[in-house]
Amino acid sequence: MTRVKSQITQHKQKHKPTTSLTHSDAPSMYQTYQYGDFTVRIVRSARRQRTVSANLLSWRLVEVRAPASLPADELENIINHLIEEIKNKQGRQRRVVTDHDLQQRAEELNQRYFQDKLRWKSIAYVSNQRQRYGSCTPHQGTIRISDRLKLVPGWVLNYVLIHELAHLLEPGHNAAFWRMVNQYELAERARGYLMALQLLENEADNNPSSEG
Ligand SMILES: [Zn+2]
Repeated sequence: MTRVKSQITQHKQKHKPTTSLTHSDAPSMYQTYQYGDFTVRIVRSARRQRTVSANLLSWRLVEVRAPASLPADELENIINHLIEEIKNKQGRQRRVVTDHDLQQRAEELNQRYFQDKLRWKSIAYVSNQRQRYGSCTPHQGTIRISDRLKLVPGWVLNYVLIHELAHLLEPGHNAAFWRMVNQYELAERARGYLMALQLLENEADNNPSSEG
């Protein structure tokens, strides 16, 4: 569950949904609309009784699941409220632009994902890493993060930090390593984000018009 999602789901009305094996959860209606910068995808389900849930699928795409029976104006009010909350949350996210910010963020992640047991000597942005987003030299306790990541959302930076922090315990990419990294709820999504970013950057690099 993402952090945003868990916040949003607080808006679920306390109601134990009735479950039935004979009903599928197949959406009976499906629509999208634009709310400011956000694309909202609404999935109506006949099976859903009273709860409205929102799930942030990407930085600007929200999927809302709602009961088919909920009146449209009521749903719109709920969605507007949820999106304002997401916007506030995203706006509140602190920028991580200095090495000091990086150190602070790494300490938070150490507490949250590694029981505060990791120790390192330095963590810093570097500008000479074009093909990698981060690197770690475990025996020296040094972590370097590509300064290209100053431009990505915080949840993507968190993934790279957790990845490099995990290397302090496990230098290789073995099963134990991935178990640590995949504790991060958004690991898979962040890998997708970084892969897409790398493709775009490679394309830009290979584009003759960008030379000179
Ligand atoms: Zn690695």
